[in-house]
Amino acid sequence: MSAATAARVDQRPCVAIAGGGVAALEAALRVRRVAGERPRIVVAAPNDELVVLPETVAEPFGWRAALRLPWQAIAGELDLELRKGAVELVDLERRRLLLSDDGGEVGYDGLLVATGAKRVPPYAHATVFDPLRTDTGFAGLVRDLEQGFCRRLAILVPPGPGWPLPAYELALLFAARAHEMGIDCAVTLVTEEPAPLAIFGERASVAVQRLLAESGIETHFSAVAHVEEGRVLVQPAATELVCDRIVALPRLVGPALHGLPATVDGWIPIDSSCRVVGTTGHVFCAGDASAFPVKHGSIACAQADAAAECLATRLGLAHVGCHSFRAVVRAKLFTGGAPLYLEARVIAGRGFESTVADTPPWGSETKIAGEELSSFVERFAGQEQ
Ligand SMILES: Cc1cc2nc3c(=O)[nH]c(=O)nc-3n(C[C@H](O)[C@H](O)[C@H](O)COP(=O)(O)OP(=O)(O)OC[C@H]3O[C@@H](n4cnc5c(N)ncnc54)[C@H](O)[C@@H]3O)c2cc1C
Repeated sequence: MSAATAARVDQRPCVAIAGGGVAALEAALRVRRVAGERPRIVVAAPNDELVVLPETVAEPFGWRAALRLPWQAIAGELDLELRKGAVELVDLERRRLLLSDDGGEVGYDGLLVATGAKRVPPYAHATVFDPLRTDTGFAGLVRDLEQGFCRRLAILVPPGPGWPLPAYELALLFAARAHEMGIDCAVTLVTEEPAPLAIFGERASVAVQRLLAESGIETHFSAVAHVEEGRVLVQPAATELVCDRIVALPRLVGPALHGLPATVDGWIPIDSSCRVVGTTGHVFCAGDASAFPVKHGSIACAQADAAAECLATRLGLAHVGCHSFRAVVRAKLFTGGAPLYLEARVIAGRGFESTVADTPPWGSETKIAGEELSSFVERFAGQEQ
């Protein structure tokens, strides 16, 4: 049966989810929890599998590969319809999505946009960590270190909203590998954050600073890097770093989806229940694509939960109501030794009620902590083994 015929036969209200990452999965799980089988759920995304991005940091170091969940398997379990293609246009008036590559269109009653951020190389002369291509370039960089060709390594967090956490993990993992191999390699981290992983609050910053110092990692905070070939100028201190290798995290910009409101950088503006500002209340956005300044998996999941509940309520599929999402950052930090579990509440872009623990206080070992997603991913990983 074609997708169009299936849609005609199935008269249930349709929730469309644009995106194939963690926010999309968390939202699908939450819609099913609160609304059961009452809606059709259509997931439109270009990717066939959901890669757990945070686990990719360890791949170049030869740890186990990041978990990859095939959307076909997820769809079978949650009764989802999959439509392959990137959403190119949101037609708010006719409530439909237009997909790339002749993917046709998807009509919806309610929409959740979870298309993530776009990654942009921040510097011409740095190797950018691409979580979906850790085998190209990055694995070679680890080999260079192991073979003694990399004695001075700089790891840079570009300014703006982004993912600072993996920069710390890369610094710690490179330093640990150099130590294991008895290789002398000076690792330097440059970031505009005022303190180590500042969004996780003061306790976390102190604990992470201690780890960095113990690993011999040099740090520059409240700093911006200017990169030339083999050289980094750190401002405002005007410190020059001569480097054998320079690694950077990507700069993130918003998805700027045609048909939806966006900030100048392409981020999608939302209210506290994740409704897209300037739409009629049936269009929501969760995760890195939103204009919320902190880009993190646990935030993406909390937003997806709030959006799913409000959307289901608006469509008359559930009576859970609309609530503000709880902005809590949770992380399992890879350190090269035992992981560290960090948590904080985010208020006005700063971390409060900071906690640091050796075991996850939120009860799950998954790298991304989502109320629905963590147990789903753990169960999936268990079946894989
Ligand atoms: C290396 C690394 C380490 C990290 N470590 C952590 C960590 O330890 N803990 C943590 O909580 N967070 C961590 N993060 C951040 C976390 O991974 C992201 O915040 C999270 O993945 C955001 O989820 P999302 O669903 O919004 O976006 P994504 O996970 O980026 O998913 C977006 C999805 O939308 C699809 N898409 C893109 N464009 C379109 C379109 N036009 N139409 C339809 N679909 C589209 C993409 O193919 C993708 O499937 C890390 C990130 C990286 C890269």
